[in-house]
Amino acid sequence: MPKNTATRIGSSTDGGRSQAPRESAPQYADVAVPVHVNLIFTYRLTESMRDVAQVGARVMVPLGRKLTTGYVVGLRDNLKPSSSLVESEIKEVAELLDLEPVVTPEVLQITRWVSDYYASPWGEVIKAALPPGISAGVERFLSITPKGKEELSNLRTTTIKARLLALIANSGELTFRAAANTLGQKQAGHAARELEREGLIRILQRQSGSAVKEKIQRAVRLRSSIPLDNAGGDRKPTTAQCRIIDTLNAAEGAMSIKQLLTAADVSESAIKTLQKRGVVEFFDQPVRRDPLATAVMPQAHAHELTAAQLSILREIERPLAQKSYATFLLHGVTGSGKTEVYLRAMRTVLELGRSAMMLVPEIALTPIFSRRLRTEFGDQVAIFHSSLSKGERFDEWTRVKNGAARIVIGTRSAVFAPINDLGLVIVDEEHESTYRQQDSPYYNGRDAAIVRAQKESAVVVLGSATPSLESFHNARTGKYQYLQLPDRIANRPMASARIIDMREVFARYGKPRVFSDELLTAIEETNNRGEQAIILLNRRGYSSFVLCRSCGESIHCPNCDVTLTYHRSERVIVCHYCNHRQAAPSLCPNCSGKYIYYVGEGTEQLEEMLREIFPALRLARIDRDTTSRRSLFEKSLFDFSEGKLDMLVGTQMLAKGHDFPNVTLVGVVSVDAGLQLPDFRAAERTFQLITQVAGRAGRGDRPGQVLIQTYHPDHYALRHACAQDYQGFYDEEIRYRQNHSYPPFVALATLLVHGPDLKRIRATALTLRRELDLANRDRACRILGPAPAPLSRLKGEHRIQLFLKSRSRRQLRKLIDTAVAAVIGSGHNPRTINVEIDPISIM
Ligand code: ADP
Ligand code: ZN
Repeated sequence: MPKNTATRIGSSTDGGRSQAPRESAPQYADVAVPVHVNLIFTYRLTESMRDVAQVGARVMVPLGRKLTTGYVVGLRDNLKPSSSLVESEIKEVAELLDLEPVVTPEVLQITRWVSDYYASPWGEVIKAALPPGISAGVERFLSITPKGKEELSNLRTTTIKARLLALIANSGELTFRAAANTLGQKQAGHAARELEREGLIRILQRQSGSAVKEKIQRAVRLRSSIPLDNAGGDRKPTTAQCRIIDTLNAAEGAMSIKQLLTAADVSESAIKTLQKRGVVEFFDQPVRRDPLATAVMPQAHAHELTAAQLSILREIERPLAQKSYATFLLHGVTGSGKTEVYLRAMRTVLELGRSAMMLVPEIALTPIFSRRLRTEFGDQVAIFHSSLSKGERFDEWTRVKNGAARIVIGTRSAVFAPINDLGLVIVDEEHESTYRQQDSPYYNGRDAAIVRAQKESAVVVLGSATPSLESFHNARTGKYQYLQLPDRIANRPMASARIIDMREVFARYGKPRVFSDELLTAIEETNNRGEQAIILLNRRGYSSFVLCRSCGESIHCPNCDVTLTYHRSERVIVCHYCNHRQAAPSLCPNCSGKYIYYVGEGTEQLEEMLREIFPALRLARIDRDTTSRRSLFEKSLFDFSEGKLDMLVGTQMLAKGHDFPNVTLVGVVSVDAGLQLPDFRAAERTFQLITQVAGRAGRGDRPGQVLIQTYHPDHYALRHACAQDYQGFYDEEIRYRQNHSYPPFVALATLLVHGPDLKRIRATALTLRRELDLANRDRACRILGPAPAPLSRLKGEHRIQLFLKSRSRRQLRKLIDTAVAAVIGSGHNPRTINVEIDPISIM
């Protein structure tokens, strides 16, 4: 890594603001590269790039021995006298990839903030902000030199070297990948290096041509207004030719060849004849890859807003009209009509000529919302989430960037959509932990959305029935404006919730049971009334782990510190962290005993048990295993909403956002595992989950009931959730947070050291602790650890963590920066250290 051309991100760049008109062409570019250090690098622009290079463009730059794609974040005429950069050591930009910037000024600004706040490398954040595949990879190309050509006949043809040289000579230019496919990775690499050293071949790195691009189709259009009888000279048009012209006219003059062939029922030669006569012409037409192309759209239904909804809408519209920043917390019980308010506010924004963004917590929720938005706003809506194809994502991104779409709906990374003139941001279910990105670059989509809105003078609406403690606290202290919808639409009652004490059930039967009689009866009665039910369990798979009754051994993942989960339909045991799979054993791998026993129930087993008890029930399962197949998942949800299914069984995915009016029973088989997690947010999560899932019941005309099975019936999270008492829960929970110094009263950070070599990461962790202590002389922060992370092994790596708390966020950040820089400076591998600011869970 060329250390001497790197600068720490700071005042040396212009922070992404677009450039003022330039007098002289810039000589240098500051480039953020997607690597795991938070530095930007300075490169020299070649003569030809100087007039055209722009902030926000992608470039190919040499980094170490490799070429990599980076992003221009600043341009400048000269090196700062104060910087340590040495002119002679500055490398040149290898290639300028865009004449038109791909990163807009707004996106540069928000990614810069994310990078600063979360200590994530700016280049990685920018990469996460762009559609995947837009930057092609770098490929190595092998070509023969004149000397190589001479040598060709002298080499003994049986050696790998000679075979490779011949391959290259035959194909003119060969990608290294192709060479490796023929000769093997290692051998090809070895031979290529030797041939290069002997001057027989050249190895070049270049951008490979596989980047995602616009999709093009061949199309036909009528040429201007040449009357047909003149065009063809003396010949009269055939009936086929007339059909072509009529069809094209009906289609406003243009159509793809494929469509035209069927629509006009003609042969290709008929079209060609017209083309030769100059009546029609062929052209390349961009095709939009539309994620909703085949989706069934719901009916548009406009409601007259209730008085409560209307007064909230007016509050939101005030700062919108003034183009000023504001954040609202919209606390509305489930079914209170929040979604309707979102839609109206978006309508207002469009009428003001501005744009809107709606973030939802899960891919699983986008199908329903995006259809809803599409029905309401048509092609103005663009969809951003990771289960779209690369082509679809590219097209949606492009439509937003060029202004064709002015409403974006998506999961957390949609916060980086290239919207200009952002007026409104809606964060639905703002409390959801899925807004937090769990890999580098770490960020929280909700918090980034608030900052982006602040920077762009937009209005934020955070909506939830169970606001996060932080947001509610912010509303209490006046940082956010509090809006409330305390009642359901049409004064429908909240579902009544009841706790079922599984300890009693155990005592009654003398053994543990999955379903209480109360729940089974309720399912039966619900079904008899022709109503629907949702059954929830927070564990996918068939059973949670596999235990041998003879030796007591359970089967662990070879890569992670967890037990494997049995998935019966595939007869495999699976690790839910690294996806390691192996065949389910019939004998214990430890003692060869044959009494293998499956402990704990997963969603898959629940489904099977319910099918056995209620053979007539039409049911489907929804969890991460079924949602990986998008179509299947969507079908289940739609079938359920159409009444073609009686019951959904699944994980917490079912708890969120759905509006199924005919659901009158929600059964929670167990939440106890969630309550027991060693995490200060365990109670908050459980409270939210129960309240949310209870909100799925009784949304229509008939009242709903909720049954919660637990071995901890007195837990305060369950008590308050049953009573639908947010305030009561908040009061109890906020006291606990204050007494134990947890957020929102302190800022938290974790430093995770991970790697395959335990000795090495232990040394890094200890050095980190020492440097932290050195920099923390004023004791502004509390430092805990190093200790094994709760998952002490994951994906084949050991994990050690340090845990930091402080009342001063600024001090906390300064401490981390100083210590991490010192540790890296003393030779420890930066890739093994993950800094997480505001971790969502401390497990
Ligand atoms: P939330 O998002 O708060 O859970 P929704 O916006 O989904 O609530 O509204 C719950 C139900 O009430 C939906 O079926 C919705 O169509 C209906 N609804 C919302 N607003 C109105 C209104 N003003 N008049 C009649 N029905 C409404
Ligand atoms: Zn694993």
